[in-house]
Amino acid sequence: MNLTNAEILSNQPISERYCHMEIAITGWSVADVKPGQFFHIRTIDAYSPLLRRPFSIYRINEEDNTLEFLYLVKGVGTKVMAKRMPKEHLDIFGPLGNTFTFREGSSGILLIARGVGIATLSALAFDAGKKGIPCYAILSARTKDDILIEKELTAAGIKTFPVTDEDGSSDPLLVRKLAEEIIKMQQIDSVYTCGSRRLAILTKDIGEQHQLFAEIALEENMGCAMGACYACVCDIQDEDEIRSIRVCQEGPVLPLKKVIL
Ligand SMILES: Cc1cc2nc3c(=O)[nH]c(=O)nc-3n(C[C@H](O)[C@H](O)[C@H](O)COP(=O)(O)OP(=O)(O)OC[C@H]3O[C@@H](n4cnc5c(N)ncnc54)[C@H](O)[C@@H]3O)c2cc1C
Repeated sequence: MNLTNAEILSNQPISERYCHMEIAITGWSVADVKPGQFFHIRTIDAYSPLLRRPFSIYRINEEDNTLEFLYLVKGVGTKVMAKRMPKEHLDIFGPLGNTFTFREGSSGILLIARGVGIATLSALAFDAGKKGIPCYAILSARTKDDILIEKELTAAGIKTFPVTDEDGSSDPLLVRKLAEEIIKMQQIDSVYTCGSRRLAILTKDIGEQHQLFAEIALEENMGCAMGACYACVCDIQDEDEIRSIRVCQEGPVLPLKKVIL
């Protein structure tokens, strides 16, 4: 885990609501960063907003030791982050949290993401591409404009299935049908989700029905991200017991069957 002043290489909007940022790391290798992990970022070098904000790694570039983030411009922190300029320094803390796991000898994985949830799942998708594991991604969003990084995923050999609210294709019944077709046709043995409670419920159900290995990346609001403040507590079902966990300590990736949705 490192506290780093990274150099911002680029930071620009990729659609009306989303931005992409690339930063250069010096002093340690990004090879140590794993899909699913996140960084706690000081969005601006000022007292307000005081709290850092957590962001998953969208892409890990070992060749030039850079990291990329995709983020939704939402509240006070991301609004100031969107104004940060190339050559400025970004105070980042991490990598934090656990990582996604691949089932041993996986024959194919399916990602079910809503909105910027694909930012969290994409590092896993690129890793699957490198390992030669077939990867399929259902990308759900409000509008066509909100479907993120489809081109980048396709270029990495990932088959994408965009669905939107505007044309009605993101309806859970239709997404379920689509997911079941992919699972049956493509020998999917693992499924991963992020970005929507409704899709997580659907994914959990499909996972249980088809006996798939299933994981979720949770996005609880965080304060310290070090386990001290208990801002990110959620309940999980552990065997017969319901237990509270801190997402920053035991997550953000959890077995989907354990998460109470
Ligand atoms: C592990 C993880 C990974 C994530 N990855 C991504 C990602 O890759 N891309 C992405 O777009 N989003 C991601 N998110 C969500 C992202 O962190 C939030 O969207 C972001 O924090 C919003 O910040 P904001 O300042 O714009 O919004 P705000 O709504 O202003 O603030 C967000 C939260 O910060 C806290 N906060 C703010 N101000 C205060 C205050 N004064 N006192 C106490 N608490 C306060 C609150 O919990 C608040 O809800 C991730 C979240 C987690 C947990």
